[in-house]
Amino acid sequence: MDTAKLLADLGALLGADKVSRDPARLAARHRDTWVLSLWRKMRDKQFLPPACVVTLKSTEDAAKLLQYAAGNKVPVVPFGAGSGVCGGILAEPEVVVADLTELNRLLWVDEVSLTARVEAGMLGAEYERALRERGFSMGHFPQSIDCSSVGGWVATRAAGQFSTKYGCVEDMLLAVRAVLPDGTIVETKAAPRASAGPDLKQIFLGSEGTLGIVTELTYRIHPVPEATQLRSFSFPSMHAGLEAIRLVMRGGWRPAVLRLYDDVEAARHFGGHVDEGEALLVVVSEGARTMVAAEGDAVEQICEAAGGRSRGRAPAQKWLKERNVVPSFETFLEQGIIVDTIEVAALWGRIGELYDAVLEEMRKLPELIVVSGHSSHSYPQGTNIYFSFAAGGDDLEATYARCWEAAMKATLDHDGTISHHHGIGRVRAPWLPAELGSSHLLLRLLKRAIDPHGIMNPGVMLEKVC
Ligand SMILES: Cc1cc2nc3c(=O)[nH]c(=O)nc-3n(C[C@H](O)[C@H](O)[C@H](O)COP(=O)(O)OP(=O)(O)OC[C@H]3O[C@@H](n4cnc5c(N)ncnc54)[C@H](O)[C@@H]3O)c2cc1C
Repeated sequence: MDTAKLLADLGALLGADKVSRDPARLAARHRDTWVLSLWRKMRDKQFLPPACVVTLKSTEDAAKLLQYAAGNKVPVVPFGAGSGVCGGILAEPEVVVADLTELNRLLWVDEVSLTARVEAGMLGAEYERALRERGFSMGHFPQSIDCSSVGGWVATRAAGQFSTKYGCVEDMLLAVRAVLPDGTIVETKAAPRASAGPDLKQIFLGSEGTLGIVTELTYRIHPVPEATQLRSFSFPSMHAGLEAIRLVMRGGWRPAVLRLYDDVEAARHFGGHVDEGEALLVVVSEGARTMVAAEGDAVEQICEAAGGRSRGRAPAQKWLKERNVVPSFETFLEQGIIVDTIEVAALWGRIGELYDAVLEEMRKLPELIVVSGHSSHSYPQGTNIYFSFAAGGDDLEATYARCWEAAMKATLDHDGTISHHHGIGRVRAPWLPAELGSSHLLLRLLKRAIDPHGIMNPGVMLEKVC
């Protein structure tokens, strides 16, 4: 569609002040933090801006925008806070970016039922701060809490650092309000649990902007915990540490944090607290004082029986202090090094082999500089591994593709899931059919039924249809 007409139509529909072609705004909203998008922009020294950015201030604004977009077959890309790392946002020239950053109010807190209603564009840290002022917490602490939105968490099925106790975002979501791609507003009911057919809010969890725009969420909350206890243990190997976590989870204990760093990461982050070749486990327990004390003792017994050695509070304190500090991708790219993370998960029966296989396959690549891993989100049935790698070479984009290919193939070969919490976006889309197998059909049918013109975030998760 002709851009001038698009701008005039959207201005008339929503108010000209909500429709922007300001170059700085287009630049700030056209992509997420996927390292390959950043690299292409640095390498090519330019980017093609989207058609415009529309600022949504209400669910009704989103409904008007999508009704218009469906009628005119205009592609729309929702923008939460842009912290996604998989290329979920890469707005091409014909795209309208639906900017949720000003749909950002905490609507209410129900202190009796322990629920809160929040607009989708509120930043995670602001939401948590507002809850804390009232004596509550969501319990969801992604490393990106300062730069991700509460709606983006749902769209990507995010996991926070304290997930082993409080669960991931799907465990915290009670209800959603969303706008379908034809502009229809839908709302699900908040209940402690329901047996009223399929759980329809699940459609939006992990939808990555491909099935509509989520505008409001009802989340579970809980009182700020009474006590916190920090511990850490070193293990002779990653495998020994994984076995200790398995036994803690199997015993019914739920420390908020169980993070196991392999030898490379333990030496990098906790040098001085581990011997050469050792893995390090950080444990944070929180909740009622008596429960925390009992959990701490039980975890210590299990870890020591599994070959662990207590390393006191200091490594856990260090982790808590530094947990959201990350070096910028840009600094590495400027030195000709591409850095990224790949988080996968598997059942306990396969996770050790999967960890070994991913490292082995990636280390075969001549351009690889380093690869390492840690486990950060555990369940009675299994855990995740969060791999980090750095690689060089003459063609960084080709190197990057080879690193991902090696990790994804080794994960699938060992029955792992290709993403634990970052989502699919563009980077994992080629492996989604293998991940979902016969159920890939359900995803395609869902997309076709809900978004028949394929206007919502084309190119993410599934192939473009418009
Ligand atoms: C330094 C850093 C640390 C990170 N740590 C974690 C972590 O600990 N745990 C974790 O899970 N992730 C983490 N991430 C990844 C990222 O923060 C999450 O994926 C987050 O949930 C994205 O939220 P966002 O609001 O920034 O979404 P965006 O990047 O804006 O969007 C992500 C996707 O969701 C869609 N979308 C966003 N909002 C909506 C909406 N309201 N309705 C419909 N679709 C929408 C977008 O179109 C896009 O496809 C990290 C990222 C960085 C850069």
